[in-house]
Formats: sequence, structure tokens, C-alpha cells
Amino acid sequence: MIIVLKQGINPQQKQETRNFLEQHGYKVREIIGEQDTILGAVGRVQMDLREVELLPGVDRVIPISKPYKLASRELKREDTIVKIGPVRIGSGRIAVITGPCAVESREQMMEAAEHAHNAGAVMLRGGAFKPRTSPYSFQGLGEEGLKILKEAGETYGMPVVTEIVGTDYVDMFNEYVDVVQIGARNMQNFELLKRVGALGKPVIVKRGLAATIEEWLMAAEYLMAHGTDDVILCERGIRTFETYTRNTLDLSAIPVVKKLSHLPILVDPSHGTGIRGKVAPMALAAVAAGADGLMVEMHPHPDKALSDGPQSLFPEQFERLMRDIEAIAPVLEKELERTPTKKESIPSAGARTGELDSEKAGKVAFQGVRGAYSETAVERFFGPDYTAEPCDFFADVFKAVLQGDVAYGAVPIENSLAGTVHEVLDLLLQYPDIRVVGEQKIRIIHSLISVKGASIGGLKKVFSHPQGLAQCSRFFEDHQAIERIPFFDTAGAVAHVAHMQDPTLGAIAGREAAKVYDMEILKEGIENNPRNYTRFFVIAREETAGTRKPNRAALVFSTQDTPGALFSVLKILADYGLNMKKLESRPIQGKPWNYMFFVAVDLPEDPSVLKSAIEKMSESAADVRVLGHYCVQGE
Ligand code: PEP
Ligand code: MN
Repeated sequence: MIIVLKQGINPQQKQETRNFLEQHGYKVREIIGEQDTILGAVGRVQMDLREVELLPGVDRVIPISKPYKLASRELKREDTIVKIGPVRIGSGRIAVITGPCAVESREQMMEAAEHAHNAGAVMLRGGAFKPRTSPYSFQGLGEEGLKILKEAGETYGMPVVTEIVGTDYVDMFNEYVDVVQIGARNMQNFELLKRVGALGKPVIVKRGLAATIEEWLMAAEYLMAHGTDDVILCERGIRTFETYTRNTLDLSAIPVVKKLSHLPILVDPSHGTGIRGKVAPMALAAVAAGADGLMVEMHPHPDKALSDGPQSLFPEQFERLMRDIEAIAPVLEKELERTPTKKESIPSAGARTGELDSEKAGKVAFQGVRGAYSETAVERFFGPDYTAEPCDFFADVFKAVLQGDVAYGAVPIENSLAGTVHEVLDLLLQYPDIRVVGEQKIRIIHSLISVKGASIGGLKKVFSHPQGLAQCSRFFEDHQAIERIPFFDTAGAVAHVAHMQDPTLGAIAGREAAKVYDMEILKEGIENNPRNYTRFFVIAREETAGTRKPNRAALVFSTQDTPGALFSVLKILADYGLNMKKLESRPIQGKPWNYMFFVAVDLPEDPSVLKSAIEKMSESAADVRVLGHYCVQGE
């Protein structure tokens, strides 16, 4: 049952409630949600719920209708995020685990780990105890395999996961692995589930060959009832009458599980299809269907693999898959999970910022009020270790960074429909001490938001930034009675409507704004064009490398007022093989009809090429300046 506690419950009353339940034979878990604090009580006992409802401090008691309780969304509304060292699985992240089917040798595993790490996988897999159909097939290296896997994972900073096949190995696994895998064949080995659950380590539980979703969630329940909260489900295909593929990968399980459970779900397209050529399309489909991550078999030499070679990707294929996932992640409003920790992958804000106290060093300024799209960009780029600081104007973001009030700023540079944000470009030209150190792309999904209980039919006025209103013009054509009122920003419009508490008023902004101001989304995705993205620059006072390799550089220059002046500068970029990604001209303040040019180029493998090109450009152009080198994902 779910016990929702009263808002003002004191710690003693809470403890008494727990004691009461435990004395009656229940196992009790406390779940602190966004709105309520609740206790989940599970057990074999039957008791009259009214007895619990009468306890002081208890608001209401809700029976859980499903046979799985701890794993159920009824008990916990928010998505569970499983943390494994620096890796997080769940919610808006896509975590990719890869490695060979089986650990075969130290060399093989080291090579696999290097490829996995370089391509951006966050965890390493490899079976040491293989549950093979034939007793004559390779059975795995046993404990020796676990040691090798651990060493390879440690060498490349990746936590490791591997399958346990019997209760005898629990202590051994405790020593060597970060995540224990329950294989498809053991999904209903209840003694194993109990022992592994009691370890308290994160567990990946694969769906059994012929298991229903409910049976699979019951396996998760076993693990949770015996002591671990960190359960990750993994769909790996089920037996059907189809024989072309090894199994039938049930991607519909993803949205079903998401509705029924708060636990993260991975997909294993390797065992799901059994055919190398089918792995990437199914992996991408799984991501599109909402999977929190993938487990993919990749072998440095699949043709020599001792197990599952035909379904293992070549390293180059895996690398390509990672790039494709990165490209579709923003469409799903997700981010590819990366290691090392997000903090290390972010370019340091520089030596001078090193002087900042730790509080300021963890702050990122953005323009707008809470719930703005810019705040979402900050969260996506920086993760939970940083706090977003709202500023009134773009110039304030630049000033906050320069003055060292914050370590970073995040400013929109371009929208895919509305084009360049000229004010930000001008500020970049105006403040030569500001460096561009990162870029984040987010998808813009506009929602129609109002107070709770309002309806679209009852709306008379809708507020938003002029861009927001323009991007939703089709909605207004269909709702002619609603008046459009321009407002200085989208999230600000929601704050205004929240303040007015009038159900005839609405606002257009992102989903986050509705959450921040405790408002209701009347309709999500009312923009005319769903391919609506905004790119943000991350700015800092100094540029020092993060662990992610920069692949883009931004430059500015001005030219003389002579025929072919711009052409001759751009020709240098062409001569040096530098691929131009953006070109924009801006008037120079105080010099009418003179222009600065802003250029973004792909960074070549050899950084000296850009250096030489810039030297050459300086011969014919004035004020050539590099704004920064940064990493662009998923283009
Ligand atoms: C594996 O991941 O190596 C494996 C054997 O998977 P499954 O249990 O899904 O067959
Ligand atoms: Mn395998």
C-alpha cells in the first residue's frame, strides 16, 4: 500500500508510522517525491487499511493494484535514475553499454574497452560465465574473466556489468562487478534474484525468453523486495513463431513498462535480433521509442569471436551507431550519457575562474526567468551538479561571467526557424574576453499553459514572446477567438498568467515553465513546425580543454572596403580545407556600413591547420579573432 503523509508531519510521527507498519510485518520504504512524502509498505500481511489511515500524520492510504509494488509507478511517480559511479541511467539520459558477448582474453577485452570508450559508451560488458545452449560451446573464463573485465573497465574509467548464473557466485561478483546482470534464462530463478537483490548493488534484469511484462516486473520486484532499489530492466527479445531473427525484439515493451514502472529500461538489440546488420536499426528504433539506454555487443574481431560473433558489431559500426544516436537524441529531448562525469567533460572555465569560490564555480547564468528554454539548455549541458542563475538581459549574462559571479553562461545563438540571435552575436563581438567553450542544441516544443482547471475553449488571451506566438500561428488560426499578446519572454508569460490566476488567460512556453509555476499544460506541441531547435553557446572567461575533443571553432574578422575582400578571406578557408558551418555579417558599432563577419568552421584533426589559416587570414583581414573551440554534438 501507499501511505501519503500529511505535509506537516513531524519526524516522530513519521517514525511511529514506520514502526507501526513494521510491527505488522511490512517492509517500508520512504519515497520523497516532488509533491508528497510517501511510505510504501509491502508484505505478505493483510490488514485493514483504515487502521493505517487513522494514524496521526497520515493523509491517505492507497492500495497498490498491481502485483508488483516497489517497481510500480503507482508507488513512485518520478522516474528512477540509477547511479553507477559516474554513470546515470534513466530519465532524460541515453546510456550505452557495450563490449563483447564473452570475455575471451585480456588482449581482446582491452581492445574492446578502448573502442567502447573512444566511441562514447559509458559502461563495459563481457560475460565470464556464459549460459550456453550447448555444453560443448565456450563457457567463459569464470573468475579470471571477471578480473580481466574489471581491469579493462578501470583502465578506461567505465563501470562493468556481467551476468551471474548461480547463487554460488554472489560473493565473487560482489568483489569484481559494478552491476550484476540477471540473464534471460535466469529471470525466474527466484533464489538467485533474492541473493542478488540482497547484495544491494545495481542490477540489470533481462526479460525472460518467454516472459510476459508482468512476470518480468515481478522479477524486478523480487530484487527490490530483497534489498536493492537500483534495478534496470532490459528488453532482449522474446520467443515467437518467427525464425528469421534469433528473437522478436518487443519494442512496444518500452512504452508499456514506462507506464507501469518507474524503473529505467534498456534494450539489447544484439540478442534481440541475432543478426549484426539488424542491430543498428533496432537500436535507433529503441531510442526513438523511449529506451533509457542500450546494451550492444561489439567485438574487436567479430569473425574470431568465441560467442555470438554474427550479432556482434565491428568497432566502426558501433562508432557509427553512437553518432546516429547522438543525432536523434535532441529530437527526443534527451542527452547521450557520457563518461567521465559530466563535470570533467566540461571545459574548465579557466585559471582565473579557479579563483572562484566553489559556490560561484558551480553556477551558470542564463537570460530569462526560471523555466525558460535557456534553463533547460543549462540543465542538459551541465547536469545536476551545477545551478542555473537567471539574469534579466543577455548583457547581464556576459557581465556575470566576466565579473566572476558565475563560472559559465549559456546564451542562444541561433534558432532553426527564426535564425541568428543578433544581440548575442553582437555581445560576443563586443566582449573580447569572453570565450565560447561549448554548444548545446535543444528541441523547442511549445505548450499551451494555463491555471489548473482551465480549458482551451475558455481562453480569451494568450501571452508569449513574439517568436513563440509566430511559431504557433496555426493554432491561433484554428482558435480565432483567442487574442495573441506579445510578452518579453515565454517562461515570463507563464509566471504572469500564474500570478493572475485567471482561467481565461494562457501562455505559450516550454513544459518546464508549467512545472516551475505549478500550472497545467492544456496542449503540448502546438508549434507549426516540429523541427524547431535552438543552439546555445556556453561561454566562459577562459578556454581550457575538457575531456571532450573540440570539433568546431568560431571566428570573427572584418575586411577592407575593396572588391573581393570577403571573397579573398573565405578563399583561405577553402584553400586550407576548412569546412564552413555558418557565415553571418554584423554592422560594426560606430562605423556605418562596415561589417564584422562571424564564421564557424569544422576543426580539422590537425589543429595547426586552423592556426596557419588564421595567420594567412590576418594578412588580408583586420581583427581576426578566435572566439573559441568547442564540441558540437549530433549534427
Ligand atoms: C548476454 O547478455 O550475454 C546474454 C546471454 O543475454 P541474454 O540473457 O539476454 O540471452
Ligand atoms: Mn551474447
